[in-house]
Amino acid sequence: MKSLSDMPLENVTRVKALLFDLDGTFVSSGFIGSKAYKGLENLHKSGIKTIAVTGRPAGWCDLMARWWPINAVVGENGAFVYSKIGSEVLRQTFHDMDLLSDYQKKLNILFGKLLKKHPYLKLASDQSFRHWDLAVDIAEEATVSREVAIDIVKFCEAEGAKAAISNIHVNIWFGDYNKENMALNVLDNYGLTKEDCMYIGDSPNDSPMFGCFPLSVGVSSVLNYRDIMENLPTYITDSDGANGFIELVDLIFSTK
Ligand SMILES: [Mg+2]
Repeated sequence: MKSLSDMPLENVTRVKALLFDLDGTFVSSGFIGSKAYKGLENLHKSGIKTIAVTGRPAGWCDLMARWWPINAVVGENGAFVYSKIGSEVLRQTFHDMDLLSDYQKKLNILFGKLLKKHPYLKLASDQSFRHWDLAVDIAEEATVSREVAIDIVKFCEAEGAKAAISNIHVNIWFGDYNKENMALNVLDNYGLTKEDCMYIGDSPNDSPMFGCFPLSVGVSSVLNYRDIMENLPTYITDSDGANGFIELVDLIFSTK
């Protein structure tokens, strides 16, 4: 990993889209800071496509797509993308919406099995706004050890599900989708490629995005997870969380 300040300026100037994680990256210390939000708004106004990429639920993403200064949001770890086009929100999902109740039943059965192994686990408080995944709370309102979080992933994978650890949840889903492919679909809608954009994140669930996007950036706390991440970001910010996000926005505007 290199320092963000070592990113060649020609790479910064050619950026046409910024994809960004929310928890631990754009949102830190439990709220959205005005400076980070203003930075996002300025990027959006400047014509750079702004695309949130998150494990957060469909209900939250619906509001973001409608009201935030973003072009699109990839939610529930790639289950769908909501894009604002004029006054409409276009909703594209990996699974057909007719299958929603079948997938929710499968997830509930899996969580029942998981509870037999770890009876104290709790679903995240945003679970009722989710469509396609389960989020087990590990560090938002509950405390679950890193070892148990890793065990949850192994258990779910053995049951044929996918699972990813973020800084607050373990997300679990059925289906061969992921954030990077859904993000590439969105970029394709805009006629952009992965070389045209940057991605910034903070956690193990960002590892596939770090692997996919050559101009990947981690906020400084990504170092806490370096031993359990397959792909590390190419660049790292000096600051953590939203301050790291602001550092990247400032770098982009320094070349304009
Ligand atoms: Mg995160």
